[in-house]
Amino acid sequence: MNARAALAVTFFPFHGGVHPPEHKDESSGSPIVAGPIPATLVVPLHQSIGNMAKALVNVGDHVLKGQMIAAADGTVSAAVHAPTSGRVVSISPQRVPHPSGLLEYCITIESDGEDRWIDRNRFDWRNADGRAIRDYLRDMGVVGLGGAVFPSHLKIGGAKDGLDTLVINAAECEPFITCDDRLMRERASQVVEGIKILQALLQAREVLIGVEDNKPEAIDAMRAAIAGCDFKIEVVVVPTLYPSGGAKQLIKLLTNKEVPSGVRSTDLGVQCFNVATVYTIYRAIEHGEPVISRVVTLTGNVDRPGNVDALIGTPIADLLAFAGNKADSDSYIYGGPMMGFEIPGTDVGLSKAGNCIIAKSSGLFPAKPAEMPCIRCGKCADACPAELQPMDLYWFGKSKNFGKAQERNLFDCIECGACAYVCPSNIQLVDYFRFSKSEIWAAEKSKKAADQARERHEFRQFREEREKRERAERLAAKAAQKHDAAAASSDPADAERAAKIKAAMERAAAKKAEAAAAQVAADPITPLDPDATAVPVAEAVSAPAPEPAPVSQLDPEKAERIRAAMEKRAAEKAELEAMSPEEKAAREAEKKAKIEAAMAAAAAKKAAKAAEAAKAQGDQADGPGA
Ligand code: SF4
Ligand code: SF4
Repeated sequence: MNARAALAVTFFPFHGGVHPPEHKDESSGSPIVAGPIPATLVVPLHQSIGNMAKALVNVGDHVLKGQMIAAADGTVSAAVHAPTSGRVVSISPQRVPHPSGLLEYCITIESDGEDRWIDRNRFDWRNADGRAIRDYLRDMGVVGLGGAVFPSHLKIGGAKDGLDTLVINAAECEPFITCDDRLMRERASQVVEGIKILQALLQAREVLIGVEDNKPEAIDAMRAAIAGCDFKIEVVVVPTLYPSGGAKQLIKLLTNKEVPSGVRSTDLGVQCFNVATVYTIYRAIEHGEPVISRVVTLTGNVDRPGNVDALIGTPIADLLAFAGNKADSDSYIYGGPMMGFEIPGTDVGLSKAGNCIIAKSSGLFPAKPAEMPCIRCGKCADACPAELQPMDLYWFGKSKNFGKAQERNLFDCIECGACAYVCPSNIQLVDYFRFSKSEIWAAEKSKKAADQARERHEFRQFREEREKRERAERLAAKAAQKHDAAAASSDPADAERAAKIKAAMERAAAKKAEAAAAQVAADPITPLDPDATAVPVAEAVSAPAPEPAPVSQLDPEKAERIRAAMEKRAAEKAELEAMSPEEKAAREAEKKAKIEAAMAAAAAKKAAKAAEAAKAQGDQADGPGA
């Protein structure tokens, strides 16, 4: 009986999945070694989903290892720290490990070779409230290391009655990647200490550690390490089937709970953390160490494949040289071969998401055959772990029918590549799905920008109207004050002036009324508002027409609509004029309150939508590469 067959298995299979060649033995046989301290480190400021961290240092500053060099910006963000001691030599846009190849801000540190730490202190989490613990993890730069880099502090707390199940994602299902395997074999007790902290913080009633059956040594090490735990905890061995490390797939495998589209796993009482993330939580809390390094698998076309504990910001070229990169390597995959991407150049610095670097050669990765037309064989649908219809999504993406793609749950696609792997027509399906998603995001971004512009415009209008009204009220109050003062005066000259003002006001009012009556008689649909009488109706409704058509020449329906609108306006005005100043003020206050309430409701809706989106992202944060 081989080692895999000897492992007891209790699991609940998910739909689909594929089994590509594992290529794990090349790098899993040797222990983790410390990576090089490079002469220069390029530390990206965007190290997590959400906002880029804000730089706290300036060019020329000397920094110590572990010193915070950029603070989290907003809720969905995490701090960034100096991976070694040295001098900041630039803060500028540079290439980063991202498929877009776009530049992002990085802090470049010239190492002083001393690798001198800041003071580190244990964090007394047992006597801290939830908020303080979350802030601490955010400031220690703890993010999901399975590939999704979602800020971990956002996944802690929230469930009042605790969790049913805390799932530890140790499946590591992507071919070539072995960093979690080595971590569990060598540092199982520290991982379990991290699990104990999370179990207590989340009040999880049980903890299930999911490991694929191709890691027998890691399974043994973890089983030995959990032996003394005083809560329900189990290492669950699952079959080696890609993508069992997807959060939804692993939750199904371990708990038999299916997380439906648009539902968060926490709504079902389950939260998922990657095993390497748990290790960093332990190091941050018990040793005061921020996330400044990670274990990364260096494999593929290199002389010494293995796992290296590498400083964040280490140029990929330094790591490849460390592993003995071969001369015929032609490009490099960041992540695994299923979900990873080719880096734009080896000058980019390692980020927290970098779990694996694969040197490619034509022998190891032969050129992909040309794409052929889809033959509707349905193999992609059989392989899809999200139970989608990839051939339909492909067609909608190709024809730019993004609405239809969204209707067919495009955003449930985890981009695992299982469909493309089985496609006999060699269609690079995931490329089409990424294209569709990016087009939808771009459209939503423009819509959001347009909505914001409209809101700004409406608010400015509201403010201008309010200022106009307040100015008029101030003038009226001043005039009334003057009039009252003159009327109350015992000076006959004042009394005469007051009487004159009053008579002039009455004459002006009578003249206005006469003019309005005359215009109504001449043209019954001309506005009664004296301010508007100077503008012919046709001009008002169709400006800038050079020759306004007389009302009688207008379309009868249109003329009727204009007449009704004018009458309504006149009625409103008459009603307003008949009101006492107190009633007018009350009417204005009511109108203002309605506008303010509508604006507050819109702002609250917007904030709720943003929070909902951030939380949903967090629930999907453990990628299959984990
Ligand atoms: S596997 Fe390829 S050829 Fe077959 S239905 Fe899917 S996209 Fe079409
Ligand atoms: S890439 Fe998307 S559509 Fe294809 S198998 Fe994976 S989840 Fe399904």
